[in-house]
Amino acid sequence: MTRDADCLFCKIAGGDIPADVVHETERTLAFRDIAPQAPTHVLVVPREHHPNVASLAAAAPDTLAELVRTAADVAAGAGIEAYRLVFNTGEQAGQSVFHVHAHVLGGRTMTWPPG
Ligand code: C5P
Repeated sequence: MTRDADCLFCKIAGGDIPADVVHETERTLAFRDIAPQAPTHVLVVPREHHPNVASLAAAAPDTLAELVRTAADVAAGAGIEAYRLVFNTGEQAGQSVFHVHAHVLGGRTMTWPPG
């Protein structure tokens, strides 16, 4: 298992830092965002460390597919039919934690384009 000792989401995935976990699979973990931007705002991460979605896709495409299925299961579990799945990629796009995570956002009407 690839871990980065300094990575916040590696620590959450490893159980070293507590989180409000809503769903788990063999290779992924889903937990509530501490600063929710919608009634449902859950982050889905791979247990292994990959800095962004492109590197995850290149190194472990099966894990990326599992992560997207986990996101769909989280939405279904919350009773949400429409949801937004966001991978902020790079600082200018708003990425602040460099362990790939999908934001599952739902429970309200979304606007487009995002800011
Ligand atoms: O896409 P970005 O990298 O900015 O997303 C990181 C997310 O991680 C933020 O929405 C932030 O609220 C969340 N976060 C969290 N728990 C922490 C630190 C950050 O849920 N301990």
